[in-house]
Amino acid sequence: MPKSVARHGRELTREIWGYTAENHQRLAETLAGRAAHRRKGSRVMAATAAEKRQLAESAELMAADGWPVELRGGSLYNSRDGKLNPAQAVGALASDVSAGVIAEGVAVASLNELPLDADEVVLATNAFTETLLPGIPITPVRAQMLATAPDAEVGFDLSTTATIQAHLESLGVTAPVTHRWAGTMGFTPDALPLVGRLAPRLSICAGYTGHGMAFAFLCARQLADHLAGGPPPPQWLDPRRFPIPPAT
Ligand SMILES: Cc1cc2nc3c(=O)[nH]c(=O)nc-3n(C[C@H](O)[C@H](O)[C@H](O)COP(=O)(O)OP(=O)(O)OC[C@H]3O[C@@H](n4cnc5c(N)ncnc54)[C@H](O)[C@@H]3O)c2cc1C
Repeated sequence: MPKSVARHGRELTREIWGYTAENHQRLAETLAGRAAHRRKGSRVMAATAAEKRQLAESAELMAADGWPVELRGGSLYNSRDGKLNPAQAVGALASDVSAGVIAEGVAVASLNELPLDADEVVLATNAFTETLLPGIPITPVRAQMLATAPDAEVGFDLSTTATIQAHLESLGVTAPVTHRWAGTMGFTPDALPLVGRLAPRLSICAGYTGHGMAFAFLCARQLADHLAGGPPPPQWLDPRRFPIPPAT
């Protein structure tokens, strides 16, 4: 949060946090327990003394704004946060629309040669947007992950275990790695998404800067409502805050 305040100011940071909370609430209502969604809380742990100071500052700022956060042994605990299975969530949302509305496996090579008839086109292509609209201020930034098999962390023992403590201290991994994956995220210059009209019949909903879970549902909902005649999404999401390249 201190980084966001330094970048966007206290007021806008407050509004952005409110927006992400509404995003979570609206998504939770729509999923209604599907995709293993649960509000189980989250914990952010500091790896360095500087991060520890940052977390303490975050806790103070967030608590002042009424967010239910607490510092627990140097980690920041937020009881309102949740978790879900992202692939199942996409499947659940897709199953809510009528058959035939979603066309899969359709590659768009150029905005001038759309493979489908459309009154409105929304670029929801996140990191890949520049391949269709060169010059759009979204930079593809790669990230890699791995997942381990569960470690021996079962039972009622409340004491710490040497293995897990050593993990946390070194931030290393000793359990067998079961999955590895990488992907590309779409970063914008101010770390906020681009949501709104670019040109007649052409809009964008992309550039989540690694935080699509926190923004995308509400951004997409608001853009769809706007294209159907409703009010525009908040001004701080307007893509025209940056110079927009012409769609050729
Ligand atoms: C390793 C990794 C970890 C992440 N962790 C988190 C996290 O912890 N929390 C969080 O909030 N976010 C996280 N993210 C970011 C999150 O995944 C994205 O913000 C989110 O997926 C964006 O959703 P999207 O639908 O806008 O874009 P995407 O999921 O990227 O979907 C874009 C789609 O457009 C398609 N497409 C692109 N170009 C074309 C074309 N020309 N024609 C047809 N189709 C096209 C692509 O194939 C893709 O299916 C992570 C990302 C990565 C890579």
